[in-house]
Amino acid sequence: MSKVCDDCGTVEGSLHEAFCTRERCPFCGGQLVSCGCASKVLELDADEQKALDDYEDDSVEPLAGVIRRWVKALDRKGRIPF
Ligand SMILES: [Zn+2]
Ligand SMILES: [Zn+2]
Repeated sequence: MSKVCDDCGTVEGSLHEAFCTRERCPFCGGQLVSCGCASKVLELDADEQKALDDYEDDSVEPLAGVIRRWVKALDRKGRIPF
């Protein structure tokens, strides 16, 4: 029987759901949702950084754009499967 992520439910060897708390960051190897690489990799400005820190509504700019760019950067780098 294969293992299942206890957060997002993905099976071993598959990618986690976007921003699953168990996903590791391909840039630093830390916990993706809390490692802070987004700021460095995307070179966020103050407004974007604040939006990301507050994380209120990711359907509203500038947070929506930050998330889109971050997902793209992760895909380019290669996300780490479970
Ligand atoms: Zn997961
Ligand atoms: Zn990182």
